[in-house]
Amino acid sequence: YAAKSGRKGVHVYVPDPDGGSGDRLRTMEELRTALDGDELAVHLQPQVAFPDGRVVGAEALVRWHHPVRGLLSPAELLPAAEQAGLLRLLAERVLDLALDAAARWWEHRPVPVSVNLSAADVTDLELPGKVAAALRRHGLPAHALTLELVEDTLMADPDRGRSVLGELRRLGVRTSIDDYGTGYSSLAYLRYMPADELKLDRSLTADVAEDPRAAAIVEHTVALAHALGLRLVAEGVEDDRTAGVLDALGCDVAQGFGIARPMPVPDFLAWLAAPRPAPAGAASQRDR
Ligand code: C2E
Ligand code: MG
Ligand code: MG
Ligand code: MG
Repeated sequence: YAAKSGRKGVHVYVPDPDGGSGDRLRTMEELRTALDGDELAVHLQPQVAFPDGRVVGAEALVRWHHPVRGLLSPAELLPAAEQAGLLRLLAERVLDLALDAAARWWEHRPVPVSVNLSAADVTDLELPGKVAAALRRHGLPAHALTLELVEDTLMADPDRGRSVLGELRRLGVRTSIDDYGTGYSSLAYLRYMPADELKLDRSLTADVAEDPRAAAIVEHTVALAHALGLRLVAEGVEDDRTAGVLDALGCDVAQGFGIARPMPVPDFLAWLAAPRPAPAGAASQRDR
């Protein structure tokens, strides 16, 4: 994107006059194509209960197998989808992929699948109907699905968001507050958000083994979640030591690279079928 002008051997980099917007347009076009074809996929990351490591969920994370650029993450895909006004279509696609995967294990292992929603989805009054239809299509009950929202998702239109979420919960779908602790008004939000689960952000869980302040915040949040009847999931659990401390602090569920990385559907099915030890050896041997 840079033009070189070699005056006196000094290279001056001149920015592309398009400022990279050409790239963006191309990506948006390609995304439209991808949504019609089979370039989108979900990877699944297990969620396991403390202390025994029982699998209690799987989060579906969108991936884009781009024909030229290879495997793209949500960080690359989501902004393009937002700009192209394709977030709702993307959500329908991801929901379909996630439920299609869950239908492959549900009969013998009733482990629910979690799907992430964006603000565009939660203000979609047709979302509950779309979700109900997707569940029917895949022959799954509503409790096979959990919908994750980050705190700020509801802020744009809290009334409408609450009513959409309320309707989803009446169907029997579970809702989860994602990345908890990173938003601006976490506590006020907790009071009104209809939810079943709180996912404590990695920035708060990662250092619990070294940082007593982080541990105090986690312990406090566990108590708060339980007082509100919410299950607490610790995100970003990367090692056994951290898992042990999170278990001791009362967290209900762990998710993170230390348990397993997000993986393609066939790998997840194999992972689910394989026997394995509890996530944090030490903690699971502790008396409870
Ligand atoms: P999230 O919902 O909080 O998902 C967890 C993210 O943390 C995932 O990144 C996952 O790969 C990563 N992660 C899991 N365990 C660990 C760990 O132990 N250490 C570290 N460093 N990272 C870990 P990913 O897949 O890149 O997704 C990023 C975000 O993109 C998600 O954060 C979610 O907000 C969003 N996202 C993903 N899929 C979708 C989707 O289908 N729709 C929407 N609207 N958003 C999505
Ligand atoms: Mg999530
Ligand atoms: Mg999260
Ligand atoms: Mg997070």
